[in-house]
Amino acid sequence: MKTILLCSDLDRTLLPNGAQLESPKVRKVFSKLAAREEILLAYVSGRNEQLVKEAISKYQLPDPQFVIGDVGTTLYRIHRRAWELDKNWQQEIGRDWHGNNRDDVVTLLSDLDGFDLRLQEEEKQNSYKVSYYTNPQLDMKAIRKKVSALLTEHGIDTSVIWSLDEKEHCGLLDILPQRASKLHAIRFLMKEEEIPEASTVFAGDSGNDLDALTSGLQAILVKNSTADVQKAALEELEEKGLADCLFIARGDLQGMNGNYAAGVLEGLVYFFPEIADWLD
Ligand SMILES: [Mg+2]
Repeated sequence: MKTILLCSDLDRTLLPNGAQLESPKVRKVFSKLAAREEILLAYVSGRNEQLVKEAISKYQLPDPQFVIGDVGTTLYRIHRRAWELDKNWQQEIGRDWHGNNRDDVVTLLSDLDGFDLRLQEEEKQNSYKVSYYTNPQLDMKAIRKKVSALLTEHGIDTSVIWSLDEKEHCGLLDILPQRASKLHAIRFLMKEEEIPEASTVFAGDSGNDLDALTSGLQAILVKNSTADVQKAALEELEEKGLADCLFIARGDLQGMNGNYAAGVLEGLVYFFPEIADWLD
């Protein structure tokens, strides 16, 4: 049996921290599957190392072999619970900043008036991720344009991601190297581990998973994903002629409801039918 690389988002994909109900004992079934030697497990998340570790412990998830964290700016290999940062990935994304570092970004942006940028806590930053809080009412397009232009002028090619923290009522601005993304990190990992596309599958639930969900990799949307995300993913894949690559969980595997880990399992069985026998 070949090796299968399962790359899965955490929040509201494997972690049942959304509004929908989780099927009982589904994470036990998932852990049993992950323990098989055919399965290589990678968690792919916006969370940093500490917050991924907290999620694993709080929700009793299996230890993965890899973690792509901090919105794709870090890749860790995990052996016997020791986390090691993949330096090759840092080098790969660092090229976009042409020798500049995080302090250079902060210095350049400190001159920017009118956007109310406040640096986030130290644990939310890393060598290739600079994160700010902003006023939630600001014009997101204007900020992104202004920040990108200013940094590009100084040889720093960035991807500027703006999102809203509705609970805390603030805007979040992440500045990353241009090529740092969940999808690019997954492809980098596949290449390093020599895992072909036919043996790789990605699972997610929301807008920030869309580039991986619509990349042509085999992909799973859990049933608790919103209708908007399902529609956006399908439309984009149909346009590319790749609609067969996506499976949207329906909730019809072994009495489970298709939400969270149940959806991931359902999708795995869809792409690799032999897995059904392993779940009994
Ligand atoms: Mg998610």
